[in-house]
Amino acid sequence: MEGTPSPLLLAGDSMRAWNPAGSLLAEENGSVRLSAAGDRIAWGGMKMLDSPIDVWSPGGLSLAGKRLPGRIRISARNGGIRVVAVVPLEVYVSAVLSREAPPTFHPEALSALAVAVRTYTVLAIATPRDPDYDVVAGVEDQVFEGVENVGAGFRAAAEATRGEVLHYQGGLARTVYHSTCGGRTESAGAVWGNDVAYLRSVPCDDCRDSPAWRWEYRMGRAEGVRVALALGVRAGDDLGIEIAGRTPTGRASQVRLLSGSVAREAKAAMFRRAAGYAAVKSLWMEIVPVGGGWRLTGNGYGHGAGMCQWGGNGMAKKGSGYKEILARYYLRTRLAFLPGGPGPFAGGAGGTP
Ligand SMILES: [Zn+2]
Repeated sequence: MEGTPSPLLLAGDSMRAWNPAGSLLAEENGSVRLSAAGDRIAWGGMKMLDSPIDVWSPGGLSLAGKRLPGRIRISARNGGIRVVAVVPLEVYVSAVLSREAPPTFHPEALSALAVAVRTYTVLAIATPRDPDYDVVAGVEDQVFEGVENVGAGFRAAAEATRGEVLHYQGGLARTVYHSTCGGRTESAGAVWGNDVAYLRSVPCDDCRDSPAWRWEYRMGRAEGVRVALALGVRAGDDLGIEIAGRTPTGRASQVRLLSGSVAREAKAAMFRRAAGYAAVKSLWMEIVPVGGGWRLTGNGYGHGAGMCQWGGNGMAKKGSGYKEILARYYLRTRLAFLPGGPGPFAGGAGGTP
């Protein structure tokens, strides 16, 4: 809940507030109004507390009517209040799994994904973008929509791999993943511009069962004009869209937009973003003008780097274990255990994706 305007109504039975050192600062039963006074927190209009504080209630908390799991951390900055949920790492891992994979996936495929999610999350904690916000909830990082209603298969996958992370040369690996590669994964260098030794392109046809193994999308003329405008080209009825460059795996790297005397190239990733990730499922595609619009046909779903989730599932169905799956997509990495086991950490509390 970034940038939540104060004051906020926090409700719960026998609420207790501590500072990070563990000293009890305040107690309240029922509800309390919180507001920020500069960088301090006004608790019920009576007490001023140094930011941040941790609050917990045995029966759970609700904030502005929304239920929050477990403990929360509240911080104040420049007159605004920020709240993040503090959930145990393994609970967070199973919750992310439940949003990113179908429950029908093989247990070994879910275990492989659990290790990838945990590693990615612990790396994000080690290199936070914001000291109050360990993992941004939403598509920028991993999807997190609370810890309720997490299926048994997802919890079992987190439990089966509890504390396991992937290392490359002794440090945490950046374990990116995607839905379906469509035949060959993409290198990190081709997606983000920086080569990563363990994120190279590997062949994969184990994702054939994915609904996005092959896809087609019909883009109408008006939609094409709108996408072109988003990329800085004010086009007329003569708009042309074509692929202007490809990566070594065959994915589009550049698209060209043509209208009148204008011809502009744009990054293919920007084109996909403007058109919508669910419409243009990957950059491994062809664009053909047809009937006033365009027919896009492609392979796979997602950026293509790192683990192919549907490929992992295909491997698991043929008998591979999660370690084999991880070794295939994250080259020359090694499994390791987190030192001291997983502890609680602050994860994003129900932000908007
Ligand atoms: Zn694949």
